[in-house]
Amino acid sequence: MIENNNEMLPFENYPDQGRMLIGRVRGSNCRHGYGLEFMQLTKQTTCAYCGTDLATTYESWLTMALDHVVPRDTCVRLQVCEEWYEDYSNRVLSCTACNTFGNRYQPEQFECPSTLEAFYHWRDSVFIARRKNILEKHKEERAYFDQKLWIMTAS
Ligand SMILES: [Zn+2]
Repeated sequence: MIENNNEMLPFENYPDQGRMLIGRVRGSNCRHGYGLEFMQLTKQTTCAYCGTDLATTYESWLTMALDHVVPRDTCVRLQVCEEWYEDYSNRVLSCTACNTFGNRYQPEQFECPSTLEAFYHWRDSVFIARRKNILEKHKEERAYFDQKLWIMTAS
């Protein structure tokens, strides 16, 4: 399920290959509201980081989140146009685990991109860095899981 397909970006399947504004994210309900709208707009159903399909089972659907690629606080700090960073084109589908693993990532960027095209270029590189980071954390977490610490050995 987790693969290192570093060549493919999810944005390629978005309207206009994810290089145009496609709509502002609104509301507060992911599964019934903005997440659903995002899936309809972009045809995405899998976590952009680990590849888990979030639409095949009820249990996986419950873990659906819509992640900012370039984090909101970074954009606010650099005074990036809100219309850009709150657009669906700056979002990816994410499972809860990847969303949590990626939470603390702070991109290295010291000035606001001057054009939307430059913003998307930045978004792409942030996505690639975050995916690498998140997949590393999955490796660590899986190693921990594989210890099966909940199985008590008889003493
Ligand atoms: Zn995931």
